[in-house]
Amino acid sequence: MKASQFFISTLKEAPADAEVVSHKLMTRAGLIKKLGAGIYNYMPLGLRVIRKVEAIVREEMNRAGAVELTMPVVQPAELWQETGRFDKMGPELLRIQDRHGRDFVVQPTSEEVITDIARQELKSYKQLPKNFYQIQTKFRDERRPRFGLMRGREFIMKDAYSFDRDQAAAKASYQVMAQAYRRIFDRFGLTYRAVAADSGAIGGDLSEEFQVIAATGEDAIVYCPQSDYAANMEKAEALAPVGPRGAATQPQTKTATPGKSTCADVAELLGVPLSITVKSLVLATDETNEAGEIVKTQVWLLLLRGDHDMNEIKAGKVPGLAGFRFATLGEIEEHFGCKPGYLGPIGLKKPLKIVADREVALMADWICGANEVDFHITGVNWGRDLPEPDMVADLRNVVAGDRSPDGKGELAIERGIEVGHVFYLGTKYSQGMNATFLGDDGKPAFFEMGCYGIGVTRLPAAAIEQNHDERGIIWPDAIAPFTVVVCPVGMDRSEAVKATAEQLYADLLAAGVDVILDDRGERPGAMFADWELIGVPHRVTIGDKSLKEGVVEYQHRRDAAATKVAVADILAHVK
Ligand code: ATP
Ligand code: MG
Ligand code: MG
Ligand code: MG
Repeated sequence: MKASQFFISTLKEAPADAEVVSHKLMTRAGLIKKLGAGIYNYMPLGLRVIRKVEAIVREEMNRAGAVELTMPVVQPAELWQETGRFDKMGPELLRIQDRHGRDFVVQPTSEEVITDIARQELKSYKQLPKNFYQIQTKFRDERRPRFGLMRGREFIMKDAYSFDRDQAAAKASYQVMAQAYRRIFDRFGLTYRAVAADSGAIGGDLSEEFQVIAATGEDAIVYCPQSDYAANMEKAEALAPVGPRGAATQPQTKTATPGKSTCADVAELLGVPLSITVKSLVLATDETNEAGEIVKTQVWLLLLRGDHDMNEIKAGKVPGLAGFRFATLGEIEEHFGCKPGYLGPIGLKKPLKIVADREVALMADWICGANEVDFHITGVNWGRDLPEPDMVADLRNVVAGDRSPDGKGELAIERGIEVGHVFYLGTKYSQGMNATFLGDDGKPAFFEMGCYGIGVTRLPAAAIEQNHDERGIIWPDAIAPFTVVVCPVGMDRSEAVKATAEQLYADLLAAGVDVILDDRGERPGAMFADWELIGVPHRVTIGDKSLKEGVVEYQHRRDAAATKVAVADILAHVK
């Protein structure tokens, strides 16, 4: 590819709504362009990255014996009504109507359609096992689309679905996918961890998330450096005692004085070390089921590090939240011997009468504030804009230093970005849709299923969160938009430079290297700044001076300086 023919459009400034580095850099490098909230154009450079991710995924899925197809983005509601998800699923499911008033959904995932295919096509146990996958556009009307491609509303997912004759075979299919995922994520060249995740009501241990390790990740991961124990916080907490840390063994009896407690009092009550400025805040969140109904209200005590503007807190922009989760408002009251409203100078204007958990959902007109006199904000409406539970994943009963459940060491905690998820489903969907095959005993049986997702467009964002510096992106070779950029300096003035650049470009192309020749005629400073921002891992600079010494300059994106290399040796550097 020649840069003059390609489309390159870089920006000096990041958009105002970009909070995380991947969103900033992807926009500045011209990989994506926003069209609406959580909806992006994949610009030519960005699309090249996405296609490389897809190619690796496709290759490894095929190698693992999965078969590709695609299912419609717009799907008739009838199938979704069969499983009940059309009604039960919350507002994340985008429902639309056609001109005849018929209901449709825009697929957030495709269990219903694939199960419908299976019940028609897979008639006998002899056709099993089967694993179908697609790499296709998804839509989820996320409550808080943000961070660019990381949490979009429209995004690309690879979703696979396995069909088996019995549980043992389904578990074997699950393991094949779990292994394929390891190969896929190894190939991306990222640091990741496979962690146990909650498999929900189905039970068992057959759910794992693949988490790219990054400080900005929305998920907290618990692992043991001395063993292979690793789980997401949800799963780890499920094993830990309920209530604030230590509460199970040592009930606290101290009472905070209404209106007078300082952050030090709170810290003492909770038994947390106070080496940082801590400010506290109480708020409640709703836990909803698939139908969006409130099943439980949780009250959180947040300890905020440092000073924060209440608007920032409300917008969920406050980093480094730490604190503790309580099951109910009543538990807080019991634990501290006072209404949470009085825990520190934070509170409800009118103490809430706790009739049912739902009462707590009233979230208008709170008084919030930090542990400072006269630092209260009244009339705060948390509304539906509360941070999602995963935003406050640090509110936890499991902390670093706890004993690992396998007893082999101490737990450590880090943050991750969920880029993949493998899940054993059992017969949930096959029973819901009456999808059966004939077993070897001649009797119909429900398919045993599994589902397996990879966030194809989230992955590049995760890669950037992990690999960047102040100048821009640093792509791993496997998913770089181009592997090598050839930068001639003074191409218009020097025949030698021009000829060498053209020849090297042709040679690299012939050797199968994904190379771009920057023939735009930009000045060196601007040219290098562009490629450093875009993050092409290998750069070859060709100039008159070094050519006279018979060399060109090679620089990896991570190198501090260029190295002189004979043109003939370049291939060895970039392969
Ligand atoms: P999250 O916890 O981040 O909301 P999820 O658990 O809802 O993700 P899954 O249903 O497991 O997501 O979907 C499979 C994969 O699709 C995820 O592991 C993730 O990589 C990707 N994904 C999910 N939601 C989004 C989104 N809004 N934008 C981009 N990728 C997404
Ligand atoms: Mg989700
Ligand atoms: Mg998740
Ligand atoms: Mg998931």
